[in-house]
Amino acid sequence: MDLQKLVDDVLKDVEVYRGHGEVASYIPALKAVDPRKLGIAVAAEDGSVYCAGDAEEPFSIQSISKVFMLNLALDHVGATLWNHVGREPSGSPFNSIVQLEAEKGKPRNPLINAGAIVVCDNVMNHGTADEAVSEILDFMRERAGDASVAIDANVAQSENQAGFLNRSLAYFVSAFGNLRNPVEDVLSIYFRQCAIAMSCRQLARAALYLAFDGNDPVTRDAVTISSRARRINALMLTCGHYDNSGDFAYRIGLPGKSGVGGGILTVVPGFGTVVVWSPGLNSAGTSLAGAAALEKMVERTGWSVFV
Ligand code: GLN
Repeated sequence: MDLQKLVDDVLKDVEVYRGHGEVASYIPALKAVDPRKLGIAVAAEDGSVYCAGDAEEPFSIQSISKVFMLNLALDHVGATLWNHVGREPSGSPFNSIVQLEAEKGKPRNPLINAGAIVVCDNVMNHGTADEAVSEILDFMRERAGDASVAIDANVAQSENQAGFLNRSLAYFVSAFGNLRNPVEDVLSIYFRQCAIAMSCRQLARAALYLAFDGNDPVTRDAVTISSRARRINALMLTCGHYDNSGDFAYRIGLPGKSGVGGGILTVVPGFGTVVVWSPGLNSAGTSLAGAAALEKMVERTGWSVFV
């Protein structure tokens, strides 16, 4: 398959969607992003990354970071993580608080905001917030093979200032005794992980191990155990897009994770990864042109976990 032609063709396929959807505005620093940006990157087993459009430009990865933080938490605490957070789709928006009261402060899954905050608490464990942030940043740099990956301090600060809802979620969870560490420390990890900036190219490369049972196919690093990589993919398929997860699985048929920065990471098990970026979102916070691009890509390639 000519992967360069594929990404070029898909970019043309979705040109009509460029600029559609709403750029996330509840985090003021994200509002400033040009809604017409559109990037696509496909990473293959040999580490080659095929790019089209704005695929080299760093964007705020936002909730896509939750996938990698989950990996770190499972590495730290193993299955005891599931005493603190569930594994079921929420059917609710990413920042919803409604289920937390009925379910006694145990978030439905690690990919909604409340669950990701609990994940941060488990990565921090008995260390400091800064150590947890260094750990995720080092992880992303190593996996991307690029030491220039960084946190956008402006976005992190903006998230903190506008973080009333995330603060509410975190204090609510803490009231049920489900956070070990001080709430503001845990939140400071969460805000900074969401503010990591990466390009489609860097992110596609970084996630490659998830397509190969936890092993980086280029460096041969055993990043995580195979059962863990498979389970992270299962959670992405069932919970990766909040109340839009069923629709995404139906249309695209691959594990994926969206972020309100407009990025979507998708894993094609045994083949590689696809990352798209376009800041205009649908009502569930999934990139509109990005999801359309992924739909065109699976139409053209036949990629699916259901073959
Ligand atoms: N930082 C964002 C928030 O907490 C992440 C949400 C997202 O990307 N869906 O609201």
